[in-house]
Amino acid sequence: MSSLNCKGRLDFLSSKQRVELNKHFSQPFAKAMPHQLAILLGLNYPEALAILTILEVEGLCNNKLLIYHKCEPDVPAGAIPFGKGFPNLPWVCPLCEKIVEENSELSFDIMAQSVAPIEFV
Ligand SMILES: [Zn+2]
Repeated sequence: MSSLNCKGRLDFLSSKQRVELNKHFSQPFAKAMPHQLAILLGLNYPEALAILTILEVEGLCNNKLLIYHKCEPDVPAGAIPFGKGFPNLPWVCPLCEKIVEENSELSFDIMAQSVAPIEFV
């Protein structure tokens, strides 16, 4: 069990939200996306993103940038480690096999996966 001290960094979290986070991250390899976490905890998107960013910085999560192509807006077509920037263009979409030349055809989201159970203290 790894612990993350929220004091000074995630002070906006209530004790109830920390309980929810502990529940969610009590499993190893728990996954979280910012919008899901925001709904689960009643946070706004930037706050949820802040949690996942701190977990990545602390080495408690590996975050990925999910790549979506407009052919299947709800299905990730690819993923690259977060912080490596955006996919190099042209990029071949594995779903529709089209060659993507413009970033405007793509959209992105973040998927965090914990490396060990995390306790928010
Ligand atoms: Zn596609």
